[in-house]
Amino acid sequence: MTARFSNLPKRVERLPTDRRGFPIPWFVAWRDGQPHLPVIDAAKLGVAWNEDLCWVCGDKLGAKRGWVLGPMSALEGATPEPPSHYDCARFSVCHCPHLSTPAASFSAKYADAQGYAPQANISKLRSGATAIWITRGRGATPFRAGRGLLFGLDGPERLEWYAGGRPATGTEVREAIAVAWPTLQQAAELEGRGAELAARRAWLEGWAPR
Ligand SMILES: [Zn+2]
Repeated sequence: MTARFSNLPKRVERLPTDRRGFPIPWFVAWRDGQPHLPVIDAAKLGVAWNEDLCWVCGDKLGAKRGWVLGPMSALEGATPEPPSHYDCARFSVCHCPHLSTPAASFSAKYADAQGYAPQANISKLRSGATAIWITRGRGATPFRAGRGLLFGLDGPERLEWYAGGRPATGTEVREAIAVAWPTLQQAAELEGRGAELAARRAWLEGWAPR
C-alpha cells in the first residue's frame, strides 16, 4: 500500500513501494534487498512474455495490452519491453518519474557495471513524450536483435500519447517524433528504407491529438 497516490489500479496497489511511496514495478532489478529503478531484471523479460505476465504488476494479462514506447520504438514498430495491462501502462506513463518527467536521467553506466540489461529503450526516457500502443491478443512477434530481444509490434487498436504525466498535445507528440527522427532516418536511408520510414512517420503523426 502507498499513501502517495489515491485511486491506484488495484494491481499496482499490491506492489511494494520505495521510500518515496512510488510503487516498484515488477520488472525492476533488485540487489541486496534494494530495488534499482528503473533498471530491468533481464531474466524477467522471457518470463513475462512466455507466461503472459504484465510487465508492470507481474499478474496474468488479459486480451487488451498496453505497450509503453518512446517515439523511436513507435517509428520502428518494435520495442524491447513486453506489454502491460492497459491500466498499469497508463499509471506508469502518468506517474513513473522516469516516464513522466522528460528530464529524468537513467544511469546506463550503472546498469552495465551491475551486469543488468541496459534499459534498451532509453529514447523513451528522454524524448519528452511516451506512447501506449494498445493491442489485443499477443500483439507482437519477438525477434533477436544484436544482444537482445525485440518485440515486433502488430498494428495498434489505439495509440495514446502522454507527456508530463498527462495526455500529450499534438505539438509535443510531433516534437518528440522529430527528436527521434534524424538517427532513424540516417539508418533507414542507408538500408534503402527511407520512403517506408517517412510513410511510418506520417502514419504515426496521425495518432497525435489535433
Ligand atoms: Zn498489470
